[in-house]
Amino acid sequence: MAARTIKDNLKRIEENINTACGKSGRSRDEITLIAVTKTVGIQEIIEVIAAGYTELGENRLPHLEEVATLTAEYIENNQPETKVNWHMIGHLQRNKVRKLLPISQTIHSVDSLRLAAEINSTAQKYNITAEIFLQANCSGEQQKYGIEPAETVELAGQIGEMPNIKLAGVMTMAAFTDNEAQIRKTFIRAREIFEQIRGSGISPETCKYLSMGMTNDYTIAVEEGATHLRIGSAIFN
Ligand SMILES: *Cc1c(COP(=O)(O)O)cnc(C)c1O
Repeated sequence: MAARTIKDNLKRIEENINTACGKSGRSRDEITLIAVTKTVGIQEIIEVIAAGYTELGENRLPHLEEVATLTAEYIENNQPETKVNWHMIGHLQRNKVRKLLPISQTIHSVDSLRLAAEINSTAQKYNITAEIFLQANCSGEQQKYGIEPAETVELAGQIGEMPNIKLAGVMTMAAFTDNEAQIRKTFIRAREIFEQIRGSGISPETCKYLSMGMTNDYTIAVEEGATHLRIGSAIFN
């Protein structure tokens, strides 16, 4: 049997997303598929771009710097009309913000007030606005990163005061498990926090997105309201 190609994988993922949209009465255009490129090189990234996907995600700055440079070169030489958008999805240290912002202005992994403040002040120096998601720990288990649900709502209020960041929404990660009920519970909790922030008197232009769903659980995430899926292995393996 011939090896599956990235194009085949994307086609299958789209079918699954469409099925999940059908089940939950949603429309495919409400959902952004972010191709997570952390394990791959420029050749695979070019294949994804050629298939029409330009929202790309990375979890570590060194690999992001490397592939973002190569991707920019490729685009400039081959399809200068295309615009690629890099999403930072992994844990971010404050001392990396200065290097990150020129490459990526969409950060899904903001998990403290100090990090948000650093992004705001650095964005101010660059004269840009960064879009951030608050990473909430909704799984009810000990996770390495992520804010407690109640604190997430409070932090959203504090971020509203920062002129150079815009609260894009809430991000969460489910536990890596086959237990569908447990995964669903995590996503429902994230959705509740998202709605609670939206109902807390913030500007209606902010907190519009819900970033959840990876290879193992993206159809459940769609059913529970995800607007941004972060998928790696299902595309590249
Ligand atoms: C790696 C990663 C993903 C993608 O994971 P897959 O299981 O390969 O789809 C999504 N989100 C974050 C934060 C990641 O680090």
